[in-house]
Amino acid sequence: MEEMNPEQMEEKKQMVLQMCICKNCPSFVDCSGESIGYCFPSIGKSKCIAEEKGCICGGCPITEKMGLKNTYFCTKGSEKEQMKKDM
Ligand code: SF4
Ligand code: SF4
Repeated sequence: MEEMNPEQMEEKKQMVLQMCICKNCPSFVDCSGESIGYCFPSIGKSKCIAEEKGCICGGCPITEKMGLKNTYFCTKGSEKEQMKKDM
């Protein structure tokens, strides 16, 4: 992901939050007040989701829009975080 200014970052975050389908995922655990959109760099891992029971990120429009290569952002960290580990 290219560097963005804070405004672009916020816009993108809102788009991710609107399109995120994590709430329909078998691994999803409702962590009161926690933000979804785990793939986003300023969001990242969930504090509640620990068990990987399947990940539906591949079917999410954000995966295509942002060209995401990873999955299980809720347990493994944001795309940016996981990319670093791959290097
Ligand atoms: S790719 Fe996954 S974590 Fe990111 S917005 Fe879509 S469903 Fe949510
Ligand atoms: S990141 Fe993937 S595994 Fe985690 S809740 Fe979202 S769709 Fe499910």
